[in-house]
Amino acid sequence: MSASEAILPSLQGYVIRGLPIIKPGDDIASLVKSLFEFQDGDVLCLASTIVAKSEGRFRDLGSYEPTARAADIASSIGKDPSFVQAVLNESVDVLLEKPFLLVKTRFGHTGVNAGIDQSNVGDGLILLLPEDPKKSAEEIRASLEKDCAVIITDTCGRPFRFGVAGVAVGWAGIAAVRDWRGERDLLGKALEITLEAVVDEIAGFANLLMGEAGDGTPAVVFRGLRYPRFGEQSVFMPEEMDVIRPLMRR
Ligand code: GDP
Ligand code: MN
Ligand code: MN
Repeated sequence: MSASEAILPSLQGYVIRGLPIIKPGDDIASLVKSLFEFQDGDVLCLASTIVAKSEGRFRDLGSYEPTARAADIASSIGKDPSFVQAVLNESVDVLLEKPFLLVKTRFGHTGVNAGIDQSNVGDGLILLLPEDPKKSAEEIRASLEKDCAVIITDTCGRPFRFGVAGVAVGWAGIAAVRDWRGERDLLGKALEITLEAVVDEIAGFANLLMGEAGDGTPAVVFRGLRYPRFGEQSVFMPEEMDVIRPLMRR
């Protein structure tokens, strides 16, 4: 193989600049389309923050009436009781109350504080995750006109590892997981258990390009990625398969 044959040009990543501060009612797909010319097969990654803002997911902390339980948790972890109440309202299951609130959201994602953000939002306000990020991704995908995938990301901590990374909370036009089971390894042995969380891998790199805090670049497009279109539709572990969750119950 010559040196030039050995290199496969595979992927471009574009960071879209120039998006405004997103307000409720803003049409994310139109804004992004006005700044970037999409082609079939592109993967558009959007920070959940801007999707949530466009969907009006701001809440006034003062609008919550904390229950006794919320007040209890709040005092044990040193958080605002209203904030704790907001997290509980978005949750269907509480896995940890201390030293931080780890919950399962209504749409199936498990994360600290139900993914509620207090940065980039404004005083006294919080921003909930989109109510149904998969639906949001589907709607945005439908408005792109080209046949693209859409992944909505959030920056999350990970168990057993230092540092936050981007994960997918909603997606459309792409299989969540690539199933390698039955494919042969280099020596011809069939793989038995490898499910690859494609949407999380892409979200992780997108999150790296988006930056945090004040970068102002919540949209990233990948071109040239080969990704599975059909197959497993979720990265959220079903409870009956989860071996960690039962161990966390007190
Ligand atoms: P999260 O990871 O979805 O919680 O979002 P972050 O708050 O970490 O923001 C991700 C990226 O989007 C960062 O580069 C932020 O500066 C940027 N960002 C957040 N909100 C807005 C907005 O309303 N407009 C623009 N242009 N960028 C934003
Ligand atoms: Mn977030
Ligand atoms: Mn982030």
